[in-house]
Formats: sequence, C-alpha cells, structure tokens
Amino acid sequence: MLDLLLKGARLPGELETRDIGIKDGMISEPEPEARHAIDLAGALVTPALVEPHIHLDAVLTEGEPRHNDTGSLFEGIAIWAERVKTLTVEDVKQRVRTVLRWQLANGVQFVRSHVDVCDPELKAVRALVELRQEIGDQMTLQLVAFPQQGIMSFDGGQDLMRRAIDLGVDVVGAIPHYELTREYGELSIKFAFDLAANKGLRVDIHCDETDDDQSRFVEVMAAETIRLGMGGRVTASHTTAMHSYNNAYAYRLINNLKRAQMHMVTNPLDNSTLQGRFDSYPIRRGHTRVKELLAAGINVCIGHDSVMDPWYPLGVADPLQAAFVLAHYGQMSGHGELRTLMDMITWNPASALGLEKYGLLPGCRADLCAFAAPSEMDAIRLIAPRKLVMRGGKIVARTEPEHTTVTWDDKEELVDFLKPAPKPAVPAL
Ligand SMILES: [Zn+2]
Repeated sequence: MLDLLLKGARLPGELETRDIGIKDGMISEPEPEARHAIDLAGALVTPALVEPHIHLDAVLTEGEPRHNDTGSLFEGIAIWAERVKTLTVEDVKQRVRTVLRWQLANGVQFVRSHVDVCDPELKAVRALVELRQEIGDQMTLQLVAFPQQGIMSFDGGQDLMRRAIDLGVDVVGAIPHYELTREYGELSIKFAFDLAANKGLRVDIHCDETDDDQSRFVEVMAAETIRLGMGGRVTASHTTAMHSYNNAYAYRLINNLKRAQMHMVTNPLDNSTLQGRFDSYPIRRGHTRVKELLAAGINVCIGHDSVMDPWYPLGVADPLQAAFVLAHYGQMSGHGELRTLMDMITWNPASALGLEKYGLLPGCRADLCAFAAPSEMDAIRLIAPRKLVMRGGKIVARTEPEHTTVTWDDKEELVDFLKPAPKPAVPAL
C-alpha cells in the first residue's frame, strides 16, 4: 500500500494531469490503495528546485555598515571589505539559517553556495561547514571554496584554498578575471583544476564576470576539463564577457564548451543590475549567451547569486524570480523557452551538482514542489506561491495562497489571475 497518493498533478510539458504515488519516501507507481491522499487539482508539480549559485556567507548584509548608493559592483566590493571585518561564525550561521528557511519555503532543497576563503581564519567556511552538519538531511548543501580576492593575487591564497578543502568544502572555485594579470588568471585555473583532480572534487569557477571582451578564461577552463577528463564535473559561472565576444570567437568557444561537457550558470538578477556600468549608450546587457549555449546542447542553469547583500539589495531566495528576469533580459519569452526556464531551475542544475535519484520517475526520491499555478508559463508569470513542498515524501513547507478581491459595480468579487478558459464559439444546444 502507498503511503501517499498525490492526485491531479500536472507534470512539466504535459497537458493531462496524473497521480503520483509515494512509498517509503520514494516516488512509486500510483495505486488506488493509499494511507493518505492529497488532491492537487491540476497544480504544476516539479522536482525540488535546485539553487546552483548563491553566496550564503554574504546574505542579509545589505545596509551593513552602509547602503550601496551607486548599486555598482565596485561600491559593493568596498562595502563588503568593511563588513567582513565584523564577520563571526555565529553571525554567518544566524543569517544563513534564515535564508535556508526562505529557500525551503520556495521549494529549493539543493543548494550550491560559494564561500569566501580570503580570510586567514576561514570563519565563513567554518560557519557553513558546521551549519551543513547541523541541518542534517533537511536540505542538501554543497560548498565551493571561493577566493573573492584571487588565489595568486592574495597573500597565502593557495594555502587558504587547500585548508578550506581540508575543512570539508566540496567544490573548488577560482576568480581568474580578478587576478592581477592574465598569467595569474591562467595559473589560478590550473591550480584549481589540479587541486580538484587530486582530491576527486568538482570545479565551479567565477569566470569572465566582466564586460571586457578580452577576458577569455573560460577557454582555459574548457582546455583543462578536456586535458584532465573532467567532463560533467565542471561549471563556469557568470561568463558575462561572452556577451561582448565577436561571433567567430564565440562560435569556436561554444563548440569547445560542448566538447568539454561543461555546465554553465547564468545569474540574471545580479548581472542585469551590475553589468554595462562603464558603457555610454547603447548599454550592453552584459549577459552570457544563454540561447546559443542551449542551442548547442550545453547544460545551462539559472543561479540567484545574491540575497540582500552589498551587490544586490533585493531577492527572497526564489529561483522563480531569477527565471522571470531571464525571460525578459535573455529574451526567453517564447512558449517553449518559458518551459526551458523551469528546467533551468530544476533538472539542469541537478545535473551540474551531480544529484542522484532526482526527478519525477518511480525510484526517484519524493523531493517535490507543487505550484499554485497550472502550467510553467503561469508559474513564472505569477511567480506562483509554492502550495506544497515535499522532502522524502514528507511535507516540509506549504503556502496557502491568499484571496484577492475587487469591488466592482458595488459588489466584491474574487480576482483570479488565470486566463479564463475560452468560451465555446457555438452555444451548446
Ligand atoms: Zn557569484
């Protein structure tokens, strides 16, 4: 007998609803016999949302010690340098505990967080490693050793990277475009790949996050991935310089990224506000080539990047907001493209993180998210509340959507933001 039968779920890409069985925390074939049943009444159901790129150590520091008045990357970096001086392990844990709850409420259960290692005491790394232990299986956290000030250009940078790995970090990062020279940038990538290959870890590098069309480190990542046979285990994050490459170079590069089987993460919230700041009109979007990468068959994911930190003051840790922005900013408003946006916050990042037993098929773990919307398009359009979030077959979050009313012709009516079903052209007899 099933533990639970979810009735009337609408799965991505399908028109008809279907039932989902749950037994022992796993998805199973639906059966009529179940201890409990929930009627989802046509709600869209996806696997748990996956956050492939966030900086948890910086969340909720907006306004500390001062607000970012220009909104620029450089003022953000200056403010962060001041805030970091007062960082403590408990301060980090306290802020992250709040945001993990926000993420779970939004259906996010798998999170890859970059953690700044440019601190001789590695306070942020210690905090996140301890917190990962503390939360147990309530959520899954992957941590990336992220050298905010560079590996070759920061005193003791290489040693701090090694120490972070020893403390239990899962993924090796780098920031080659921020290093002092092109040569240091290449060396930092080679250092990160060697460290990851030796320890059997994955790689996720902040790469070419600039509008400079001469910033070309992602090609070095592709070459190292191919050389070390690390295809499928390497992610390039941001790559906004790709926006400004000439088409001939971009074509060659995208072919090599495909050959290397690299994953790409685009961060529309931060990069739509931070890029193009040195341009006079027309101002470039400064965004990686999402459509071309997808068309080439490369796995592209959407990241949130910041939640109320010196670089981005907004956000509620909801991947749907990032998808909504990419629909506009990346011009992905085509009907099929809106569906693709949902893949970019679920299956695509699950692949980048190497998650197992992920999905909606029998045998997958019952980590699910039901939206207060019937389709992918409506989920994005409404940034729809998450009706129900399940982890291992148990309900871990729920939102009761509020009713909205208007008074019209002196009568209070309920407002439903769904498009009314078309009326039949010929009245029934
Ligand atoms: Zn980032």
